[in-house]
Amino acid sequence: MPGKMSESVSLGVPCPECGEKTEKNLAWLEAQTAITCRCGSLIPVTVGDGEAAMMVKKFSDVCRQLDRHGRKLG
Ligand SMILES: [Zn+2]
Repeated sequence: MPGKMSESVSLGVPCPECGEKTEKNLAWLEAQTAITCRCGSLIPVTVGDGEAAMMVKKFSDVCRQLDRHGRKLG
């Protein structure tokens, strides 16, 4: 069984407080509500409409489409 696209994608999650980017796996991010930055700030990744949440949502949508497309071709 082929893995999900999101499992092979990493995102640099931007912190709204310090601007630091935290590199995380997309599939892992989708399972979280928020992650903690090195500066201690909580960054929402699947709730709200912050920059990080919007980015995770966008990449999740793209990966889902690619997963569907891949299955159709395969
Ligand atoms: Zn930070």
